[in-house]
Amino acid sequence: MKSYLGIDIGGTNVVFGVVNDQSEFKFQSSIKTKNIESAQELADSIFKELKEKYKGTISGIGIGAPSVNCQTQQIEFAPNLQKWGDIIPLKQIFEDRFKTEVVLVNDANAAAIGEKYFGDAKELENFAVITLGTGVGLGIFIKGHLYTGDNGMAGEIGHVVMRADGRECKCGNSGCLETYIGKKGIIRTAKEKLEFSSGGSLLHEISPSAITPLEVFKAAKKEDPVSLEVVDAVAKDLGYAIALLVNLFDFQNVYLAGGVAKSGNILRKRTEKYMKLYTLPNIRDKVKLKISEINDSHGAVLGAIAAIKENRSQI
Ligand SMILES: [Zn+2]
Repeated sequence: MKSYLGIDIGGTNVVFGVVNDQSEFKFQSSIKTKNIESAQELADSIFKELKEKYKGTISGIGIGAPSVNCQTQQIEFAPNLQKWGDIIPLKQIFEDRFKTEVVLVNDANAAAIGEKYFGDAKELENFAVITLGTGVGLGIFIKGHLYTGDNGMAGEIGHVVMRADGRECKCGNSGCLETYIGKKGIIRTAKEKLEFSSGGSLLHEISPSAITPLEVFKAAKKEDPVSLEVVDAVAKDLGYAIALLVNLFDFQNVYLAGGVAKSGNILRKRTEKYMKLYTLPNIRDKVKLKISEINDSHGAVLGAIAAIKENRSQI
């Protein structure tokens, strides 16, 4: 039986695992992204850990990462991986280190391929997966195939400008969606609303540096008014962005994946309300907004591995 190494490079963690043909995890581990100084160091660290703890062979490596150009197989100008360089030839670095085939795929595309191979979208032709985490990404399937665009860069929804002259974004532009609904954006909104709220809030009970999207959603579930305002603001921007996609592409389903999506129904329900409000009436009740049921860390690793299978099936 063949086994593959799947790696998910996120702004916070690098999660990796070895999975066999039956989708069984044989090994899984993670590294904090901020502890890694370069892509070469990442390849060396994973190589060393596997050599020590996993004794089997690997038939290929799938890597999901942000800002991947799938044509050049490089990470290009990733705002959340700036210290690794502007152009990161990740496929080359990992092939040199591991001496096996490497396929590099945009992290949101990995989530979408994972949903198609292992998740709820097996039977679907037209769907989208939106990843909500440090960054905000989008993977699009049209007529049963992943759509990657002319330059391999399709799906950068996190950098769609929502507000002219809005918050400054790491990409160099301002007002990008990610600056409002990415992890840091949500935290910033929460702090701004706390500052201007006259009443009390459950968020006052934790130190400002401990405020995370998870804490905000937890407080919102307890009807904390400030937190509910934050969730509503996130849902409105996200719902607007999804409605725009649905009007353009007429998807069957849209899935929410990634850390922030795990907040559950409190975000999904409100997002759905705004999505329907801004979607054309004749498709409004047909499109479904769902939370991906693939376990978060597993999903991204499985998606990266599915990318090798998808790649081989196209050859
Ligand atoms: Zn941006």
